[in-house]
Amino acid sequence: MDVLDELVASLPAGVVATDPATTEGYRHDWSRDPDAGLPVAVVRAEDHRQVQAALRWAAAHAVPVVPRGAGSGLSGGASAVDGGIVLSLERMRTIEIDPDCQVAVVEPGALNADVKAAAREHDLWYPPDPSSFEICSIGGNVATNAGGLCCVKYGVTTDYVLGLDVVLADGTLVTLGGKRIKDVAGLSLVKLFVGSEGTLGIVTRAVLRLVPLPLPPATLVASFATVVAAAQAVVAVRRTLRPSMMELMDHASINAVEDHSPRGLDRSAGALLVVQSDAPGESRVAEIAAVEAACLAAGATEVVVTDDPDEGEMFVAARRAAFPAVEARGALLLEDVGAPVPLLPDLLAAVTEIARRHDVEIPTVAHAGDGNTHPIIVYDAADPDSERRARAAFDDILRAAIRLGGTITGEHGVGRAKKAALPEQLGEDVMALTRRIKDALDPDGILNPGAVL
Ligand SMILES: Cc1cc2nc3c(=O)[nH]c(=O)nc-3n(C[C@H](O)[C@H](O)[C@H](O)COP(=O)(O)OP(=O)(O)OC[C@H]3O[C@@H](n4cnc5c(N)ncnc54)[C@H](O)[C@@H]3O)c2cc1C
Repeated sequence: MDVLDELVASLPAGVVATDPATTEGYRHDWSRDPDAGLPVAVVRAEDHRQVQAALRWAAAHAVPVVPRGAGSGLSGGASAVDGGIVLSLERMRTIEIDPDCQVAVVEPGALNADVKAAAREHDLWYPPDPSSFEICSIGGNVATNAGGLCCVKYGVTTDYVLGLDVVLADGTLVTLGGKRIKDVAGLSLVKLFVGSEGTLGIVTRAVLRLVPLPLPPATLVASFATVVAAAQAVVAVRRTLRPSMMELMDHASINAVEDHSPRGLDRSAGALLVVQSDAPGESRVAEIAAVEAACLAAGATEVVVTDDPDEGEMFVAARRAAFPAVEARGALLLEDVGAPVPLLPDLLAAVTEIARRHDVEIPTVAHAGDGNTHPIIVYDAADPDSERRARAAFDDILRAAIRLGGTITGEHGVGRAKKAALPEQLGEDVMALTRRIKDALDPDGILNPGAVL
């Protein structure tokens, strides 16, 4: 029996696929990494025991394992590896809500949107809201420590993970944390696995904290002549306030959305801010008034306010549509750089200068209230010079963020796309510590090799 037959025989029929028609569909995540390898098999596990069986087999034969959720990742974190297996968690989707403890106990393949919907049935809310919430899985969210639009007030995925079941590289299942809101027994191992991008273990269950449903928000949309003026308004607002959303679109991304799926945005604006407040009663009125005053002081050319949640959602949907709209313009290199909020204007000014210097188009959107930006470099894949300039701009933006004391990735993860820049951000000692942790948990390096470090 060859090694692969052993894997097939150890799992129920239909769990392991080896035919190229199936494996081809599991090579790439959303970033379409051109260097993705060819997996020898895809294991679509149905429960944690099957995950353990696959890991034991992989450990025995030193076969690389790339964990995969819904494949919506933007940094090549789930790119397949030549000769390895892809371990897909997409079939593990159960969701149990415990309203008394205000938690959801979720298998990793459940979509973020499905967890939100299940919580809503109990008047509860799971806040982390990547723009991709309808197409990404909780396992992927945990593995990348996903962010989103409401993080400015409500925090990111790690702030909602109370417990995890993780299958380690040798097939051992460990249960970390649980339904307890407060628990400081032992090291913070839950935090270690959140954001580990499939390099330390496979998440097979997550205990997620839920909160009461937020109030319907009021929405403010402000137009600015320049992206730097909009960013200055963000800095002013964030000095004293924490709105429930604070998103930015620059001129090019506004126009990309209007070209792709028109929504009546102001095409002439240099930048738009979309700000929401879900504070109760008079506090909401006061918060929106303070945001409006800060926008006008920073030079806003127009400010529109609405209390109608549906009208507000139209602007938020336009912001969410930016990435697919820009995607329609050509090949993309997607950045996820961030900086401390007061330096957001400097980061955006640096991106504008880099676009000019390399003569490339870089539409930019941002979770501006967090200082997290997505410059999206567009290039012509058929033109080598266009690609060369785009790659030079990509590297320069990473360096600009590091120079400002920022980060090469605020929420998408390092994956394979940003790996080369990680040592420059973390430094030698932190890279060495990271490798020691990796070696302790995955001594043979079978878990997502080539990702992160
Ligand atoms: C249009 C669009 C908008 C987006 N907007 C946002 C946004 O606002 N905020 C944001 O944070 N992200 C955003 N993303 C990126 C992406 O959706 C997130 O990174 C998401 O968390 C990935 O989830 P996934 O299930 O698709 O994971 P995958 O892409 O399948 O995997 C992502 C990483 O997690 C690992 N992994 C997956 N499941 C497990 C598991 N069970 N155990 C261990 N490791 C695992 C993989 O190996 C890989 O390294 C966006 C993507 C798109 C396409």
